[in-house]
This record gives sequence, C-alpha cells and structure tokens, in this order.
Amino acid sequence: MNEPATSDAERKMQFLYALRSKGVTDNAVLSAMEAVDRGPFIRGIFANRAYEDMPLPIACGQTISQPSVVGLMTQALEVSPRDKVLEIGTGSGYQAAILSKLARRVYTIDRHRRLVREAREIFDALQLNNITAITADGSFGLAEQAPFDRIIVTAAAEDPPGPLLAQLKEGGIMVLPVGQSDAVQHLIRVRKTATGLEYDEMRAVRFVPLLEGLGKDT
Ligand code: SAH
Repeated sequence: MNEPATSDAERKMQFLYALRSKGVTDNAVLSAMEAVDRGPFIRGIFANRAYEDMPLPIACGQTISQPSVVGLMTQALEVSPRDKVLEIGTGSGYQAAILSKLARRVYTIDRHRRLVREAREIFDALQLNNITAITADGSFGLAEQAPFDRIIVTAAAEDPPGPLLAQLKEGGIMVLPVGQSDAVQHLIRVRKTATGLEYDEMRAVRFVPLLEGLGKDT
C-alpha cells in the first residue's frame, strides 16, 4: 500500500518544527519564514526537496542555504520594520525574500547576473516590492545607499570586508560567515557602537566563498 501523500499543511508544520528545534525561536522570523514558500526559489530536479532543512544546488554552481541557517542568521540580525538592509550574495533570492517581510527596504547584490535576473522574477511574482537586486561585486557594498541598519553576507570571507563595516550605521548589526572556503567557517555578529566594533561568534557553518569581480554565468 502507498503511504498517504504529505499534505502542504503537514509539510509546513514539519518545516517550522525543524526550524524551532534548531534554535529559530523568534516569532517574527518564524512568521516571515512561514509566509515565504521556499519552493519557487529552487528550480529543476531539487524542487521537490524545498521543504527539507538542507542546502541545495542552484544555478551558477551556487547553493541556497539551509533554512535553519537562514533563520538563525535572520534572528541574529534583529531586523526591525524601519530598517534598511543590505545583503551580499543574492543566490536564489530566498534570504532576501525573508528579510523583505521584516525590513522596510532590502538591497541585495550578487556577482552573477543570471542569479539576480532570476531572483528579480520571483520577487515580482511574489509582489515583494521592497527589494532591489543588483549585479555587482558586493565586497564594496553599495555606497550610494549607505549607511545600512543591518548587513548580512551569505558567502564566506576570511575577514569582514572593510567597505561593509564602513557602510554599517552606528548601532547597526552585521552577520556573516568568516573563515577559509575549504576549512571551518564561523558565523559572526558584529555590532557597531559609538566606541568601536563588538564581535560575537555563533555556530560553525559552511558557505561558498565570497569571490572578487563579476561571475561568468553558466
Ligand atoms: N543568500 C542566498 C544564498 C547565497 S549563496 C540564498 O538565499 O539563496 C552565495 C552567493 O554569494 C552566490 O550566489 C555567489 O554568487 C554570491 N557571491 C560570492 N561572492 C560575491 C561577491 N563578491 N559579491 C556578490 N555576490 C557574491
């Protein structure tokens, strides 16, 4: 006999349960993640695995992050509804979509033109009208819109890029993975205070590297 198919409601409950059990407890973050379906952000053969707590391959040799890591990073960012947020590493657009539910305005940058184009299509389809997606080398930030209340980087650098620290508002928070791309990386949270930068280290993670220049589209 066949197993009964998992219903959408059941799948959503399991998805939220997995997030909670991995430490995503902030209600606003959970509501945002409940509101944004991960399905449309994954095209092709992995589409049916969108509700598993797994990173998955996307175009241009990149990956959409694991939902629990998206949740933990978003929670650490402490976004409020008036914030202007900068994301480096648009990828599929999923993280930007979650942020768009929590912030006033989201700018997201990727070095792959194709990823930016495909993410924009999804933002339009979902009517997420407060996201601006840009093709550029995000290591330099986005000077014309600086300073930002919050900055999130979803590709790993050895150190936080200087221009991003400079473009963070006083009182602002930046969350990013640091470490070499082939070794253990850690998520860190940087707070910019009147007297300087405060760092705290979160969990170990594995992200694709933050690379220089624009990408060749594949
Ligand atoms: N946040 C994404 C996952 C990002 S994967 C999501 O929700 O799906 C990391 C992304 O960082 C890749 O798409 C890669 O192209 C991008 N990236 C790497 N180096 C970059 C740079 N210097 N500037 C902008 N994007 C970069």
